[in-house]
Amino acid sequence: MAEEQVIVGLEVHCQLDTKSKLFCGCSTDYRNDAPNTHVCPVCLGLPGAMPVLNKRSIEYAMRVAKALNCSVLPESEFSRKNYFYPDLDKAYQITQYDKPLAEGGYLEIEGDEGGEKRIRITRIHVEEDPGRLVHMGTAERGKYSLVDYNRSGIPLIEIVSEPDMRSPKEARKFLNKLRATLEYLSVFDSEKEGSLRVDANISIKGSERVEVKNISSYKGVEKALLFEITRQKSLLRRGQKVDRETRHYLEARGVTQSSRSKEQEHDYRYFPEPDLRPLHVQSWVDGIVLPELPDARRERFIAQYACSLNHARTLTGELRLANFFEKVVAADPKGLIPLADTWIADTLIGELNYRNMSVDAVDAAGFSELLTLLKQCIITDKSGIEMLRINLDHLMKGEPIEKWDDLIEKHGFKKIIHTITLSSEYAIKNPVHDAIIEVINEHPTAVEDFRKGKKGAFNFLIGQLMKKTRGCADPAELNRLLTEELTKKEA
Ligand SMILES: [Zn+2]
Repeated sequence: MAEEQVIVGLEVHCQLDTKSKLFCGCSTDYRNDAPNTHVCPVCLGLPGAMPVLNKRSIEYAMRVAKALNCSVLPESEFSRKNYFYPDLDKAYQITQYDKPLAEGGYLEIEGDEGGEKRIRITRIHVEEDPGRLVHMGTAERGKYSLVDYNRSGIPLIEIVSEPDMRSPKEARKFLNKLRATLEYLSVFDSEKEGSLRVDANISIKGSERVEVKNISSYKGVEKALLFEITRQKSLLRRGQKVDRETRHYLEARGVTQSSRSKEQEHDYRYFPEPDLRPLHVQSWVDGIVLPELPDARRERFIAQYACSLNHARTLTGELRLANFFEKVVAADPKGLIPLADTWIADTLIGELNYRNMSVDAVDAAGFSELLTLLKQCIITDKSGIEMLRINLDHLMKGEPIEKWDDLIEKHGFKKIIHTITLSSEYAIKNPVHDAIIEVINEHPTAVEDFRKGKKGAFNFLIGQLMKKTRGCADPAELNRLLTEELTKKEA
């Protein structure tokens, strides 16, 4: 049976990181405050209150439109979308409908088949966020719900993609790239809870399309799509059909569930918002100059710092990380660049993810010092990782971090390599010896070949050893010790 083709399109809602709301002066900085404290007659939808458009939010939306290669329309318009729900105080949402701000762009991602792939953008429109319901009890069987209008009126952009993604992985890459782009534009903060929400359309080619609503985390998108694909494929394999329907993603259980209310085609009775004029922004948008975006920064990292493509992708895939990298190497560009890309893109990210920490927690100057110790061959890679882990654990627990020198003393981390006059007895306890044993264990075939008398195998092992000791050890000594170790094993 031919592999069924998966078709995914996304609708992404992002909160624009403005200081005040879309149509009133209330602060958007509501997350740590008591419910219903960031409200006024406008965002509470009281009768007679008039919306006044926040200019900054339109500028932010236009930056996004330009960065996503969209055309900003000469005239766009706000509309009222009418429906009843307790989090929507006015019983209509001010959004854009048939005249959105921008249309027809694209975002490039690394496709599943390798190389860059364009995901087309259908449209971008601006709208207000509704309030928020807090269910007391479980989401499905809440005893009662509370409503908080602090979020009501926060500016959102909705970015609608064409169904160009072919796997959950591509959807994740699209979202990551989109997040990075928005952060580079300084219009969005991904670390704010609930700042991004996604609806996903997903189908197997030739079958009906299912909409999965309200996925509220980056990881959730890939998981929800994986679940949906498995569900849809298994229906089709059993000869059943996929219903066209709306489903909700239940994050805690990792499943999607059919919306309980029979989803009818809504009649939202859209009509132009009479209290706001149409937008004419052409000359304004022409004057917007974009900052360096992720793709350009990636290419610069490759050219300027000789990063590998993969490292450059990782490092520039998040604004905070890219900034951190540049801060770290600024201390000593020549010396630190060769170490910094691997140490940040692989080691540090791995350790941060493991602890669910952001790179913001790490001090760039302190990290430079650690790399300097490595560069000067004062500590081994292994000790460096151990020391990093100790301080990250401190940070995670909110404890003060320790000085690298103190850590070296306290834990007896090996001060190494080049200072040691190598004698076999002493070498037993020293890191060069550790490195030799590691190389031997990692390359059994080369060791075999050496024992069969192949000279090339010895050179290969020496090469590996030089890499591991980062050129800190004397090559002649390495030669002698490796020979000694190899012939000892043989005996
Ligand atoms: Zn307000």
